[in-house]
Amino acid sequence: MLKFWFKEFPQYPSDHTDYWRTRLISYALLITTSYFLILTIINIVTFSAYGLALLDGAGLLLSLAIVVWFRATGSVTSTAWSVTIMVTTLVLLFVVTTGGYAHSLYWATIVPPFAFFLLGRNSGTGVSLVTFSICSFVVYQQTESQQPAFFAFGSLLNVIEVSVAHILLFRFYERARSSAYDKLEMRNAEILLLAETDKLTGLYNREKLDNTLNGLIQTNPKDEPLSVMIVDIDYFKNINDQYGHFEGDRVLSALAKQLKHLMREEDIVARWGGEEFVVVCANASLATAMSLAQRIRESIAKQIISGHSLTISVGVAQLTHPDTAESVLDRADAALYRAKRDGRNRVFAA
Ligand code: GH3
Ligand code: MG
Ligand code: MG
Repeated sequence: MLKFWFKEFPQYPSDHTDYWRTRLISYALLITTSYFLILTIINIVTFSAYGLALLDGAGLLLSLAIVVWFRATGSVTSTAWSVTIMVTTLVLLFVVTTGGYAHSLYWATIVPPFAFFLLGRNSGTGVSLVTFSICSFVVYQQTESQQPAFFAFGSLLNVIEVSVAHILLFRFYERARSSAYDKLEMRNAEILLLAETDKLTGLYNREKLDNTLNGLIQTNPKDEPLSVMIVDIDYFKNINDQYGHFEGDRVLSALAKQLKHLMREEDIVARWGGEEFVVVCANASLATAMSLAQRIRESIAKQIISGHSLTISVGVAQLTHPDTAESVLDRADAALYRAKRDGRNRVFAA
């Protein structure tokens, strides 16, 4: 509805730290401009209070001037200060000229939201302290003068206007906060995924594999078998040497997809490093894992992977007490070594 008011600044994209501050400034300026316009009209039409109308008219002009300047320069910090100083000065002028009567003091509570949201913790505290000190002085003068207080229609308007402004400001602030929080959560999830993913193949990386395997070993009930296999491409160096490293990368990536495709849903497939992959087969005995490994070995040998005929060698080991992730992978690696020595394109058990 108010899209025309909220200018997008290309220098502050939605993930920039100042993005929400620019929105907040635009929103704060929308509130000040509307309020000063309404207050000017009310003071002229309803109260014939031309002095106050002049004050509000000045606020209106200042607000509009800051809007124009902000849109032209996009300068966040100086605009934030301008808005805060303008609001604080006009509120204090109002409080002082009315002597704090007619609930005018309530207007001072509008200063901390502006000051804290726009300037941050330290400057927000400073501006609020100054404002409230002046208010306290005004109240001190009231106590000294002992004048009776009258509460007319203007007092009611003061309370309503300030309350509405508070709700609008805090609603916007809460929206900005929760949106920033959601963005942060999404970012965290992305970073977590990146941290546990191998960039080339999209499989889990070695660190994630180690953590997952260790976790499984710790929580695995003794009677549930768990096996691992290490898969190594035979003579992979030749592909790099003959077709170049990038072609080698494409082959690795295609083979990773095939491995993932050939394994069961519950198996964990990870890139262990270079042209070696580890598959963790939960709930699989050595015999089950061996037949799974034979199946993928045969399938890979029959396929053309990214334009190349490949074979793989596989070493398989079953977890036994008191294996760790390292010791069971060590045994699978030893089995892989024997598969290589025996001529490759083979599956060996530890
Ligand atoms: P073997 O049958 O004994 O396993 O022979 P191999 O050539 O596959 O094994 P070797 O260990 O001698 O060489 C592995 C090669 O894998 C060497 C290295 O250049 C290549 N390699 C490792 N990581 C990557 C990678 O990320 N991309 C590409 N393109 N090549 C890689
Ligand atoms: Mg290797
Ligand atoms: Mg190899």
